[in-house]
Amino acid sequence: MAQLNLVLLGPPGAGKGTQARRLCEDFNLPYIATGDMLRERVKEGTDLGLQARSYMDRGDLVPDDLIIKMIIERLQEPDTEIGFILDGFPRTEVQAEALDRELTELGRSLTAAILFEVPEEDVMRRLSGRRVCVKNGHNYHVEFNKPKHEDRCDLDGSRLIQRDDDREEVVKHRLEEYRSKTEPLIEYYEEQGILRRIDAARSSDQVRDQIRATLAMALFEEQV
Ligand code: AMP
Repeated sequence: MAQLNLVLLGPPGAGKGTQARRLCEDFNLPYIATGDMLRERVKEGTDLGLQARSYMDRGDLVPDDLIIKMIIERLQEPDTEIGFILDGFPRTEVQAEALDRELTELGRSLTAAILFEVPEEDVMRRLSGRRVCVKNGHNYHVEFNKPKHEDRCDLDGSRLIQRDDDREEVVKHRLEEYRSKTEPLIEYYEEQGILRRIDAARSSDQVRDQIRATLAMALFEEQV
């Protein structure tokens, strides 16, 4: 099969993480989520973690140079040779351009940028009900995606918590960051002809089906 090099775009709380994990299972691709990678580094107390932490706590974007270095290193690992799913990167035009340059150097290109469209009023509800497991960051929702046992992850049994930056005042700021810095990427990828829009307000299964159909189409178009 052709490589699947995917970028997931959309506001926080649009369901990107949940769908990305399902896609990874379907296509056996590495899932690269910059938010998860940063949280791991914060936990480990690495230099990058220490530098990133204050930005993350405020809901600000971490500076481009730090993120770009981290992602470029990750994309050079051999497991990405079959493709990858990038979630939470790029989030600025500078990051998008750096990604394009790196892929060109590797003789590759993006298959699609999948935009998760969801009405703004849904986003707060989704984020405030979101819970993640402490061990692996698996996502749940108190209303839409309940775990089988309260407060325990179905997959690894670890405790479920609310992320600090899912608190209302931080979420508002994350959404402002999204609007001002990340939304311009919609046009960026539209101009490249690889933007694919998904109605992310529908049920998780419907969203998954739409993504699969969209990817089949993208791969088909790449071949003709
Ligand atoms: P996420 O889990 O994707 O919502 O990311 C959590 C936080 O990590 C964000 O609010 C940012 O502070 C930081 N972050 C993650 N990805 C990026 C990125 N590509 N550029 C800058 N900051 C990022």
